[in-house]
Amino acid sequence: MSIVTGSGAPPEERTDVLTWSRRRTMTGGVVLVCGTRPELIKLAPLMKCLGDRCAVVYTGQHYDESLYSRIRADLPSSQWFRELGVTTDGRAAQLGQAIGAVDKTLAEFPRPVVLVQGDTTSALAGALAANARELPLVHVEAGLRSHDRAMPEEHNRVLIDHLADLCCAPTELNRRNLVAENIAAERIAVTGNTVVEALLAGLPSAAARADLLSVRGLRRDEYVLATLHRPENVDDPARLAEILRELGKLPLPVVLPLHPRTSKSVRRFGLTRLLVPLLVLEPQAYPSFLALAAEAAVLVSDSGGIQEEASVLKRPVIVVRRSTERPEISGDFGTLVPPGPRIGAEAALWLDDVAGHRERLRHIPSPYGDGSASRRIVDAIEGMNPPR
Ligand code: UDP
Repeated sequence: MSIVTGSGAPPEERTDVLTWSRRRTMTGGVVLVCGTRPELIKLAPLMKCLGDRCAVVYTGQHYDESLYSRIRADLPSSQWFRELGVTTDGRAAQLGQAIGAVDKTLAEFPRPVVLVQGDTTSALAGALAANARELPLVHVEAGLRSHDRAMPEEHNRVLIDHLADLCCAPTELNRRNLVAENIAAERIAVTGNTVVEALLAGLPSAAARADLLSVRGLRRDEYVLATLHRPENVDDPARLAEILRELGKLPLPVVLPLHPRTSKSVRRFGLTRLLVPLLVLEPQAYPSFLALAAEAAVLVSDSGGIQEEASVLKRPVIVVRRSTERPEISGDFGTLVPPGPRIGAEAALWLDDVAGHRERLRHIPSPYGDGSASRRIVDAIEGMNPPR
């Protein structure tokens, strides 16, 4: 699908006529449209970098205390933050309501640039609302592909990338994915991922991490940190039971900050007894979570962002999923395993020599850049302006 480019001609021969006309009408303000915990975390460095040139429109897709208020409390104070309260269940209803609500809010701005991050329903709503108003659209974290059409997020990513006037690809692989889909090279900038800056700003000092662990009776390298929330793992009772059983059999204490979706599934499927061997916590504020992740022997997770963070924290991550859109970390920092007995087998490999792996991973650079992604993204946005 191509909205802003002509179809049929090879990419190098096409002219982005509509993209250009959009650029001409841009006046400088950037509206960030988002609606979930990971978007707030990864957009925080951009909010800082843009300062009072940015406004935040939050749809409300994640609205509870543990996933929203706790994360928002750590955000840089933005000039303008609007909550839209779109808390409907169901993707289609959520998408429809969010597009309408975002559209109304965008009307309050004099021709802003609209920026969305990642692959959520809120990001797609922001992209479609921008498209309907013919506003320039920037996609941060563009070009990720799992090639797994059963993942709703994969469809969101593809749609947003094809709508965007500027695709900010975290890695070279992401850029190649975009080019392979005929997205014109002039619409792509390789920027790194803002998660690096978010993490470096949020990670507590070694002393604060040690305090946090001792309060919970944990010791560095002597526990496993797990998170689970993807529908493929937690909406199916047999699969969820299998993962929890595997976690319960690991030879070290397992800390599990329980996502509200997972908590609901555990109750609904009558699996509460499988939590007994685990140290179950509320979802953590970002700095506390980073502290737990930095000191863990190994991470077990189905999260997207935690795969990236593992490469910055130099911790191994066992990715419990069918597919990943972040293959850059595979081999060095992570392994993809299906839910089931391979979790224990894979953990045994990493737990065999925790100190040795820590030392080895310390020297491997993160594929997500050096912590300058938000500066590069702002530069690329400024480059969208036509020469005066
Ligand atoms: N996270 C957090 N507290 C927690 C668990 C995770 O702050 O208790 C952070 C984590 O460090 C990462 C983000 O939340 O930055 C990942 O969110 P999630 O796994 O919900 O979404 P995904 O990355 O899979 O889209």
